Amino acid sequence: MKKTYLIDLDGTMYRGTLLIEGAMHFVHELIKRKEEFYFLTNNAKRTKRQNVEHMERMGYCGIKEEHFFTSAMAAAIYARKHYEGRKAYYIGQDGLREALEDEGFTIDDTNADFVFVGLDTSGTYEKYSKALKLLLNGAKLIGTNDDRILAQPDGFSIGNGSVVAMFEYATQQKSPKIGKPHDTILEEALDFLHKKKEDVILIGDNLETDILLGVRNQVETIFVTTGVHQREDIDRLGIHPTHIVDDLQELL
Ligand SMILES: [Mg+2]
Repeated sequence: MKKTYLIDLDGTMYRGTLLIEGAMHFVHELIKRKEEFYFLTNNAKRTKRQNVEHMERMGYCGIKEEHFFTSAMAAAIYARKHYEGRKAYYIGQDGLREALEDEGFTIDDTNADFVFVGLDTSGTYEKYSKALKLLLNGAKLIGTNDDRILAQPDGFSIGNGSVVAMFEYATQQKSPKIGKPHDTILEEALDFLHKKKEDVILIGDNLETDILLGVRNQVETIFVTTGVHQREDIDRLGIHPTHIVDDLQELL
């Protein structure tokens, strides 16, 4: 049986708003060959539609909303399965709101059962203080992913994990670990897609998230050197992918 590809986005399909040409040819060929693939991303910001549009603007064709599984979706599904209550406050953007609504949560900023934390690039002290109040009143903290910092063209910006850590410090409450490299996002994605670990291959540019997730779960991995890590990082980090390519077109 042909394996299903679970493909990372930033650093693998594009860098910010810059297309990675070989990645586009690879995906277009998968579509032509009717091979199954999904995008597995820690990025909780965009809705499925916004993800499609973001890729179309760079030149991708044939990408559908159902191709995306995000850390926001994994977080919302995980919370629905493991906890009572369906009232949620969130610090995040459209993608997190959509994921919560899709799982039957209602947004409530006065009496929430949960505070979800995804990346909110317009997060304010006021929003954080409102979330803190809800958490101190007993709401459960759920961070979508724990990326510490995010690579930007001119350096780095604060990642969602650093914001989640702030709430953990303030409330002495721990968030479950959802996004890559933690098992939850893979388990929820496999459940959602009706796949088993042996049915999938993880593709990504980040050894510490994409590839580590595969290594920890005995899932086949393809490391592509178009993003944050290079070949020399493999030994330094001691994280060994199944396959290494410099351009995804080498897989065709
Ligand atoms: Mg990446």
